[in-house]
Amino acid sequence: MGYTTETLEKHLADWRAAGGRADVAETVEALAAGARQLAAKIAIGPLLSEMGELTGNGGMDTAGGDQQKRLDLEADTVFGASLRTSPVAVVGSEEQDEAQVLDATRPLAVAIDPLDGSSNIDTNLSIGTIFAIFPVPASGTGRIDTALLQPGREQLAAGFFIYGPQTALVLTLRKGTHIFTLDPATGHFHLTRANVMVPEGRNEYAINASNYRHWPEAIRDYIDDLMAGVSGPRGKDFNMRWVASMVAEAYRILARGGIYLYPRDTRRGYENGRLRLVYEANPMSLLFEEAGGAATDGVNRILDLVPTSLHQRVPFVFGSTDKVQRVARYHMDAPTRQRSAPLFAERGLFRL
Ligand code: MN
Ligand code: MN
Repeated sequence: MGYTTETLEKHLADWRAAGGRADVAETVEALAAGARQLAAKIAIGPLLSEMGELTGNGGMDTAGGDQQKRLDLEADTVFGASLRTSPVAVVGSEEQDEAQVLDATRPLAVAIDPLDGSSNIDTNLSIGTIFAIFPVPASGTGRIDTALLQPGREQLAAGFFIYGPQTALVLTLRKGTHIFTLDPATGHFHLTRANVMVPEGRNEYAINASNYRHWPEAIRDYIDDLMAGVSGPRGKDFNMRWVASMVAEAYRILARGGIYLYPRDTRRGYENGRLRLVYEANPMSLLFEEAGGAATDGVNRILDLVPTSLHQRVPFVFGSTDKVQRVARYHMDAPTRQRSAPLFAERGLFRL
């Protein structure tokens, strides 16, 4: 098949020729090789007799307490193998309690969620792999241990693979965000959208609304105003979307705008939401900023947060910049808002 669009290999070669790091390009290619293998397995999921119940439980819990599925473990094994001969010194995976040192003399560190959205495996919805590539500091004590705990703004590259109707790679090498689509017949990823820009002014939001009663007031107020539609302070109607697979939500928002929220809430274990800073929020945030979007914990820029542990959670809001900034304003206005005052029972009026 003769495509006119460039392959991932060509894109990486051109980037290197323009001064990009060869080790980063090589690592992206290693990850793409892993994703290609994993995509083939996911595509035939239940047919894979070698894996038995591919969608069953792995029987262990991750450090974060999420139930591990067999495919989580398979994905971790696939990427572990593909990175073994790459220029990566240390890998921090959602599926491993501790970061794994491959070769301390190598220059890069990779944080990875080998399988995102794995609760959706048996529903045949899109799932994915999220990764961040960091430099290993050249010197200093514990440089390997702390390589994965740098703020997200230090990422050299980030991306996610999505295994859906199409398998695609959403990648940033810090020169825009680009989408490559896999042709399973040839095994090549081809550039299908260059320099993605997140559309603004759209009307979709994604949040698990069943947690409404647990949310902080600022989030409840923000969603209340969206749900009030044309008769509320926003003066227009919005649509809700919720796939419960972050890569699927992210891909949709890159395509047609909107916002995603996973806030903290009052339940035990949800004090910082559910998503992980190092291998979920950081790479997603870099992809969105490179696409003209924004990403915060509600107020603060994700990429400026300094992680203290590999698996720490963070409240996460990302999408179109106008919407993410509006959520921050709801947080900052919260202390001065007199929601309980009878005069302002219709808070929307108060806001106007
Ligand atoms: Mn995940
Ligand atoms: Mn995962």
